[in-house]
Amino acid sequence: MTQGVVDQAAAQKAASTTTQYVYFFGGGKADGNGRMKDVLGGKGAGLAEMTNAGLPVPPGFTIQTEACREYMRGKLSPAINAEMHAALERLEKLQGQKLGLGDNPLLVSVRSGAKFSMPGMMDTILNLGLNDKAVETLAKLTGNPRFAYDSYRRLIQMFGDVVLDVPKKKFEHIFDGIKAKEKVKFDYELSPVALQKIIAEYKKLVKQETGKDFPQAPLDQLVQARDAVFRSWQNERAKTYRRINHIDDWLGTAVNVQAMVYGNLGENSGTGVGFTRNPATGEHAFFGEYLMNAQGEDVVSGVRTPLPISELERAMPIVYEQLRTITGKLEKHYRDMQDFEFTIQDGKLYMLQTRNGKRTGLAAVRVAIDMVREGLITQEEAIFRVEPNQLYDFLVPRLVEKGEKIEVLATGLPASPGAAVGQIVFTAEDAVKAHAAGTFKTIILVRGETTPEDIAGMEVAAGILTSRGGMTSHAAVVTRGMGKCCVAGAGDLKVDEAKRELRVKGKVFKHGDWISLDGTTGRVINGRLKTLDAQPDDPDLVKFMSWVDPVRRLKIRANADIPRDAKNARLFGAEGIGLCRTEHMFFAEDRIEHMRTMILAQDEKTRRAALKKLLPMQRADFAGLFKSMESLPVTIRLLDPPLHEFLPKREDLLVEIQHLQDTKPRSPKLKELRPLLARVEELHEQNPMLGLRGCRLGIAFPEITEMQVRAIIEAAVQVKSKGGDPHVEIMVPLVGSIEEMRNQATIIRRVAEQIFEEKGVKVDYMVGTMIELPRAALTADQIAEEAEFFSFGTNDLTQTTYGISRDDINNFLPAYLKYGIFKHDPFATLDQAGVGQLVKMATAKGRNTRANLKVGICGEHGGDPESVKFCHKIGLNYVSCSPFRLLTARLAAAQAALEEKNSGAVHTTS
Ligand code: ADP
Ligand code: MG
Ligand code: MG
Repeated sequence: MTQGVVDQAAAQKAASTTTQYVYFFGGGKADGNGRMKDVLGGKGAGLAEMTNAGLPVPPGFTIQTEACREYMRGKLSPAINAEMHAALERLEKLQGQKLGLGDNPLLVSVRSGAKFSMPGMMDTILNLGLNDKAVETLAKLTGNPRFAYDSYRRLIQMFGDVVLDVPKKKFEHIFDGIKAKEKVKFDYELSPVALQKIIAEYKKLVKQETGKDFPQAPLDQLVQARDAVFRSWQNERAKTYRRINHIDDWLGTAVNVQAMVYGNLGENSGTGVGFTRNPATGEHAFFGEYLMNAQGEDVVSGVRTPLPISELERAMPIVYEQLRTITGKLEKHYRDMQDFEFTIQDGKLYMLQTRNGKRTGLAAVRVAIDMVREGLITQEEAIFRVEPNQLYDFLVPRLVEKGEKIEVLATGLPASPGAAVGQIVFTAEDAVKAHAAGTFKTIILVRGETTPEDIAGMEVAAGILTSRGGMTSHAAVVTRGMGKCCVAGAGDLKVDEAKRELRVKGKVFKHGDWISLDGTTGRVINGRLKTLDAQPDDPDLVKFMSWVDPVRRLKIRANADIPRDAKNARLFGAEGIGLCRTEHMFFAEDRIEHMRTMILAQDEKTRRAALKKLLPMQRADFAGLFKSMESLPVTIRLLDPPLHEFLPKREDLLVEIQHLQDTKPRSPKLKELRPLLARVEELHEQNPMLGLRGCRLGIAFPEITEMQVRAIIEAAVQVKSKGGDPHVEIMVPLVGSIEEMRNQATIIRRVAEQIFEEKGVKVDYMVGTMIELPRAALTADQIAEEAEFFSFGTNDLTQTTYGISRDDINNFLPAYLKYGIFKHDPFATLDQAGVGQLVKMATAKGRNTRANLKVGICGEHGGDPESVKFCHKIGLNYVSCSPFRLLTARLAAAQAALEEKNSGAVHTTS
């Protein structure tokens, strides 16, 4: 064979279009495979892989994600249509049927499927190909007119909703109306005549709403449905989901066109979903739900409450065994817990989907440990099987029940663990409103069932309660992903969303009433219980963390101001305190008075007198911290916030003074309040975040620094004298220049040495600074001459680098996220390209001057997995985060180290 005789057409095609747009699966083999998620989407890749494995999968084809991207760009290549028609022909040949035509019409489903699963975010159309004629053929062919008409009404409804933008509610209104008239409870009880009525009404509705008839030509239906799937990638629900989950907007979705199998053929047919292990607890038990005589979304929509899969074992033992065998194989093959969908048509099993199952943090750890024990994965792989943020689940609150009178109102399914106590709202909009206005402390969203439209409300709620739906309902899946408590399908609840009313056990609950949810047991409890933070001594967790910790290079510290936080910090594995904010100590009731006297002082003498009163209190606080941290390092930041924060608000004072003048003009209180007001006005600043704060305070009033250093060092000396081993790091905030640093360092060292001399005891201490101003980063080499450590205050550094006030960002953040100007809130996830570069540069400059400079970050970013990984990459020594983020940070640091090891990269500095 020579080059010359290669099929000309094929060669030309290969030369002109390098992209294959359509991938076939069926007849025992597939063009694609399971590794092609980028191209085929998760669903398409799974269907290809299952086909290749010889499993019973209805055949079909996948239009790849590039087509969706082309659609978004507004230029769909003509090759796509050509390839699609060819694939359809191949499918028709394989099935011996024609799409919507002939005496055995082929029907297909059109299913979206992106690289990352987006549950319920994009809509599937079933029974495509049906029209007025084909439905009659189908009725005759199957001898089951109920089935045929049921399938057709479903098509019109789904197609109308997804493709033609006819409001779903209007279809539901018609459907419920006829159901009520026919006096039937369940969809499958509708007679063929009733279904025909529904179809007629539906078609009228479509005509009314769109001005056009419901499309009868099967190919028209197909093309329109495909394009609608492409469009659905851009709908608001999908966008919101992607934003929350940080999924790239340009990935696009694939479209799967697949021959239908029918779960709604009768009592010998059904459809279901399941997991190879329990997605809430991780327990190694087959887990799922199904409905007989049902189709598609019936199981997950919560319209009918499904049966547990164990029932199937009794009802159809052969099918059940086959399902267990297949899913068991799938789990071994993918080496991960599978979430699968199946349909039974006339007693024959078909697999429609498989993917790695979403799970709670508790389940993720349990499954990872079990799978290592079962020899399915290695310890190193196990470390990647848990998302760092998921470990939060181990720290979710539980209800405090001891000594409480508990009234259980209802018990639903334990859909997502943890506890939530809050005030109820009945719509997502109400939730969003109450949240924005700050009306309710914590919000519980109560719904009959949730739908993807509720996603924004679910985001702001502390917990979700539904009266319908199972463990795989929308509410359950989404809340598990969010790590939020959910009780689903509590059937005793009567939820009236229109009236904003919940009735149960003869009681009525209204908007704003308090209830308590236990997502771990499924209980709905009357009133406002207390919650208890979880104990992180779960044996599975302890074991998992024992694999995690030896792997990481970054040290993890906690931000903690008081001994209680410090205790939590140690409990959750902190290797030191990275940030103790001393000002928090001044807000306590017995101190704020002295603090105010200090601030109001007109001269140094009065100020020193007030500071003297604060000294023993601060010393005692620090001693407590040093004791609980034993020999671990403790970084203490000198006073940072602007002084006016410790004074009453100007407006409040004005009102109070006015009121006294009007009512008790001779009150002695007025004598107190007037000078206070004067001082408040003196201290008033246009821009307090850029005003008299940070080291500027200690420079303007050196006695403040002196007092604080004295309290710190005396506490350390005291603890050491009693056999302790404190390691103190004194941190100067908001430094922008070496001169500022030198000014404060000089005072700190002088006072420390003085105390050592007085007491005859020395302790280890270091003097360092927070790098939180761009100028500090730019001159880090100079600052390192005085500073023995740097701690990046990434909150302020983000604020000052971007010039964005972190307290005011919410005014425009939604727009910035919407337009993709920000991928994330920069105060939640470190801006690596900008702020991160400052961190990297300052670290290098600092270490140039002082090779053993200790460098870490404190600030919200210290508990954000992506930011932690970045800190690892640029060679920081530690990150410091709030105690509840510690597990997350430890795992993120371990994953970063392993990723580095596996990519063969070497870290930049150390
Ligand atoms: P999602 O991504 O929301 O899960 P799917 O594309 O998986 O959407 O479709 C939803 C449901 O529709 C599936 O669980 C399945 O029950 C049903 N379905 C999809 N395709 C077919 C088909 N070819 N035959 C029968 N049922 C199907
Ligand atoms: Mg699915
Ligand atoms: Mg700061």
